[in-house]
Parts: sequence; structure tokens; C-alpha cells
Amino acid sequence: MNNESIFQDIINKKIQTNIVYQDTIITAFEDINPKAPVHILIVPNIFIKSSNEINKKNKYILAHMFYIAVKIAKKQKISREGYKIIINCNKNGGQEINYLHMHLLGGKELRSLY
Ligand code: IMP
Repeated sequence: MNNESIFQDIINKKIQTNIVYQDTIITAFEDINPKAPVHILIVPNIFIKSSNEINKKNKYILAHMFYIAVKIAKKQKISREGYKIIINCNKNGGQEINYLHMHLLGGKELRSLY
């Protein structure tokens, strides 16, 4: 499915979305269909299709995404009770939008998948 432009439009503010954080490397915004009281998506500003495309040159972006996800969790006051950070990859991983994104979920007890 060729749906990566949704996130590009959010980053470029062409689609109305609640952006909770943005810098020159990443953008974080509220998920349109939240699966928990806090459900934020964190995406790189440059297009990376999935975690399969992480390489030596762009791996710093992932570290930054993780760093900011934890900062957002603290700001949203879900860090003490705990939260889940998920990256889905391709069909079997349940990736629906072909643009690398990290889910930050919290605010309720979330079951482990394993
Ligand atoms: P995936 O299954 O890991 O690809 O997750 C895609 C996520 O993007 C889902 O949780 C959707 O609810 C979310 N989503 C899709 N379109 C939008 C949008 O326009 N704004 C915010 N979130 C979106």
C-alpha cells in the first residue's frame, strides 16, 4: 500500500494533527485512532520506509526517536506506571503505514504480546 504520504503531510503541516513535539530530525503527534489514553506516533522527518531501511548513516535518527519518546512519556506523566514502545515492520509485523514510526502507548495497563 502506498500510504506514506499521510505522515509526510502531517510533518509538513498539510494535515491538521495534534503535533506534540517537532525538531529538525523528528515529529511526534497523536494517533488518530488511539489504542490507549496516551498514543503518540514518533516519525523521522526524512522518509524511511520501515525498520528494514535503518543503516549506519541514519541509525542516529532511531536513537533520537527513542530519546524523545521517553521524554514525552515523562511529560505525559506515564513513565512511573509504565508504557510500551512499538515499531511494526511490514505485513507480519502489522505495519499499515509504510513510513517508519514508533508508537508510544500508555495511561493504562497494556498486556505483553509474549
Ligand atoms: P501501524 O499499524 O504500525 O502502521 O500504525 C499506523 C498508525 O497510524 C495507526 O495506529 C493509525 O491509527 C495511525 N494513523 C493513520 N493515519 C493517521 C493520521 O492521519 N493521523 C494520525 N495517526 C494516523
